[in-house]
Amino acid sequence: MVVGGGAADLTAAMVLLRARRLVAVVDAGAPRNAPAAAMRGFLSRDGMSPRDLVTVCRGEVAGCGGTLVDGTVASAQPGFHARLADGTELWARRILVATGLRDEVPDIPGVRERWGRDLLHCPYCHGHKVRDQPPCCSHTGCERGVS
Ligand SMILES: Cc1cc2nc3c(=O)[nH]c(=O)nc-3n(C[C@H](O)[C@H](O)[C@H](O)COP(=O)(O)OP(=O)(O)OC[C@H]3O[C@@H](n4cnc5c(N)ncnc54)[C@H](O)[C@@H]3O)c2cc1C
Repeated sequence: MVVGGGAADLTAAMVLLRARRLVAVVDAGAPRNAPAAAMRGFLSRDGMSPRDLVTVCRGEVAGCGGTLVDGTVASAQPGFHARLADGTELWARRILVATGLRDEVPDIPGVRERWGRDLLHCPYCHGHKVRDQPPCCSHTGCERGVS
């Protein structure tokens, strides 16, 4: 059982399938980069929507015999016995957890809404694209009015 269905999890699932393991991928469908419209710095996929990447990868994992389960693993006991948030139960010989990171953004009005869109944290994913631009934007209410 692979817990999580992002790029890391689906890559792991693919490798396990190619080692002829039976694999179920359980994914809650909330990847870290959900606010981003496009991926950068990912060779051969520059500008691709991260959602589209996951869709393609899910198709490849399913095509290789993997089982995709939409849901959230709420608990897991040695053995392994996992219970999903909707009450579904799953059993597996091994569990691989790759549930990603969750960004804790400052509790400032507007920050969560703008996170990953025009409030940019990563010099590689976004910074390069806005290099040499004035440190302001054209969002509604911007006092400096630089676009
Ligand atoms: C705004 C933003 C933009 C970014 N842009 C880029 C970029 O341009 N290029 C780049 O290379 N990287 C980018 N990143 C980084 C990129 O998002 C991460 O490196 C990548 O998503 C990590 O993949 P992952 O599979 O580890 O985790 P994730 O993609 O976060 O996937 C983890 C999955 O696990 C699921 N999950 C969590 N808990 C459970 C549970 N209990 N049960 C079931 N499922 C669960 C989540 O719902 C999620 O679907 C960006 C990040 C952010 C925040």
